[in-house]
Amino acid sequence: MANSKYEYVKREFESDRSLPASNWIVVRIDGCHFHRFSETHDFEKPNDESALRLMNACATSMLEKFRDMVFAYGVSDEYSFVFREGTEFYQRRESKILSLCVSFFTSVYVMKWKDFFPSKELKEPPYFDGRVVCYPNLKTIRDYMAWRQVDCHINNQYNTCFWMLVKSGRTEKEAQQTLKGTFSKDKNELLLQQFQINYDDEPAIFRKGSCVYRAKVETKVKSDDYGNPITRTQSVTTVANVDIIGPQFWEKHQDILHE
Ligand code: ATP
Ligand code: ATP
Ligand code: MG
Ligand code: MG
Ligand code: MG
Ligand code: MG
Repeated sequence: MANSKYEYVKREFESDRSLPASNWIVVRIDGCHFHRFSETHDFEKPNDESALRLMNACATSMLEKFRDMVFAYGVSDEYSFVFREGTEFYQRRESKILSLCVSFFTSVYVMKWKDFFPSKELKEPPYFDGRVVCYPNLKTIRDYMAWRQVDCHINNQYNTCFWMLVKSGRTEKEAQQTLKGTFSKDKNELLLQQFQINYDDEPAIFRKGSCVYRAKVETKVKSDDYGNPITRTQSVTTVANVDIIGPQFWEKHQDILHE
């Protein structure tokens, strides 16, 4: 590149943090003002399934676009994306990684909107904020994901109660008062007694949030001359609404968080 006398403005003023080596890199994005955005677009309360599926489709596109992204977990208007521990994506430059994730996700959200809301016009530009956090080992990255899923559980249980109370005629203030100071088991009890709802029967996409990862799938490509199947292992980007707090998921999918 030409060396002009103005080059110093880059050399002396720009900085771009390199994220520390040997750390799992998490980018978490979150919709800006989605409380309002969800009202503007008449999202069903507390959970609009189409909106969640749109978020999942965007996350799937992310894993298909960025090879070093190994896992994603999403709930409500947020998604966390995990890059493998040793990634050299953009030399681990923080601002490149963060800005690419946020802008790519947002573009796909807009492009896919009509697939999930064919009869709803997109009335305002959706936009997302994002942050990067590094986790130095398997324990902390696993705990990070458990933290998000516990949050999903707490919020969803509260919101399920809140909206049942409101839909049954209580004002928002009354619903808030009713739920103040209640524990998890009180909320389950309330749902069962007043609304005959067993919380565990609610759809898993609401209760567990969504995980996106590449699963190895064996597919038959053709048969050999003797009619024996010839198979190929393909990696298929998969969405699952499952528990990631306990060890079972991670034991079954050991390749995901593996260098
Ligand atoms: P901020 O800009 O600070 O993130 P916010 O309004 O987006 O503000 P959040 O705490 O991120 O607030 O909460 C997201 C809100 O978006 C939820 O409270 C909920 O009202 C709404 N929302 C997001 N996804 C859905 C969905 N699938 N169905 C219904 N409502 C949703
Ligand atoms: P990177 O991802 O590294 O930014 P890039 O392909 O975007 O790679 P840039 O150095 O940013 O490379 O250059 C942008 C390129 O996009 C230009 O070289 C040009 O080919 C093309 N381009 C951008 N805007 C226009 C435009 N208005 N008309 C024609 N070409 C354009
Ligand atoms: Mg490490
Ligand atoms: Mg938000
Ligand atoms: Mg949020
Ligand atoms: Mg460019």
